Amino acid sequence: MAENTATLQKYLSLPQGNKIIAEYIWIDGTGSIRSKGRTLSKQVTSVDDLPEWNFDGSSTNQAPGHDSDIYLRPVAYYPDPFRRGDNIIVLAECWNNDGTPNKFNHRHECEKLMLAHKSHKIWFGLEQEYTLFDQYDNVYGWPKGGFPAPQGPYYCGVGAGKVYARDVIEAHYRACLYAGINISGINAEVMPSQWEFQVGPCEGIEMGDALWVARYLLHRVAEEFNVKISFHPKPLKGDWNGAGCHTNVSTEEMRQPGGIKYIEDAIEKLAKRHKEHIALYGADNDQRLTGRHETASMSSFSSGVANRGASIRIPRSVAKEGYGYFEDRRPASNIDPYLVTGIIVETILGQIGDADMSKEYRRETDL
Ligand code: ADP
Ligand code: MN
Ligand code: MN
Ligand code: MN
Repeated sequence: MAENTATLQKYLSLPQGNKIIAEYIWIDGTGSIRSKGRTLSKQVTSVDDLPEWNFDGSSTNQAPGHDSDIYLRPVAYYPDPFRRGDNIIVLAECWNNDGTPNKFNHRHECEKLMLAHKSHKIWFGLEQEYTLFDQYDNVYGWPKGGFPAPQGPYYCGVGAGKVYARDVIEAHYRACLYAGINISGINAEVMPSQWEFQVGPCEGIEMGDALWVARYLLHRVAEEFNVKISFHPKPLKGDWNGAGCHTNVSTEEMRQPGGIKYIEDAIEKLAKRHKEHIALYGADNDQRLTGRHETASMSSFSSGVANRGASIRIPRSVAKEGYGYFEDRRPASNIDPYLVTGIIVETILGQIGDADMSKEYRRETDL
């Protein structure tokens, strides 16, 4: 926490010479993000300028102790809103010593699918819901040992007692914009201390990249306020909404007049692979997809215009105009966006020879 901001500022404003700091971030074996920093001798102008690096995978659930080196291969970099200047955040893929992608590196297969279907210019928009907790693991701002008034006034709430931690959310919003993340909006959610930010539209592999960086920025900003971020899909049992990551999708064909027929075709294909999709749509999602609290039941597939109780929703305006996008409401807040965007592309645009997103999931759960 920023205890002594003025003193800290004295050091943060020291000149860095011509060195820059690169904070490498990666996805660990628990669905969280890890990071470590290093000095580079000059300003970076391309991903190719960034050195490969490594870390101890036995400390992050990513490798056994006897063969613990995991390699970090940079795939994208972003202006660092914390250190500013020429300093950067580097998103890296994890690779094993034997030259195979690490079990939790789902980006590699996802990117193959995105490249194979590049001509369709597939766009995604993710609605990331999350819940805030205080340092003692109570929901942030809730009365000690009790509950706030039932849900109702909190969604897009304005005013004391209706909205919690707006400072954290505003800071995160600015940090995303500074880093060049295509964050499209924010809103307070139905459960008090639950929020949402949207990222997109982003094309292909950039969707997963942008969402992981936005999550990193959120954890990192909240750290300064001593607030914990939870992406659990049902953080509180009972009559409180769960947290999802609605996934909005369109191909170029869907975005043209008459495109609704491509949307309908995609929905037909999605219906046939409901089980495979659910397997990749987040752990503990069964606690959330109950058919209550604006969700569809996990056991059956459904779709409908403007229906927030369906697996797939076609927005009213899209049905009216006859083209646009659709929303997959099934993904949980704790998804790996590479798995979700990957299997959606695989299902609606076709499998490619050497990628199979269901195999990706088995690889992770076999660990
Ligand atoms: P909701 O009404 O479900 O709460 P939001 O406004 O929270 O919707 O989120 C909608 C998301 O859909 C945004 O991230 C937006 O960028 C994305 N989106 C808008 N148009 C498209 C499109 N054509 N293809 C894919 N995503 C889109
Ligand atoms: Mn939304
Ligand atoms: Mn929402
Ligand atoms: Mn939505």
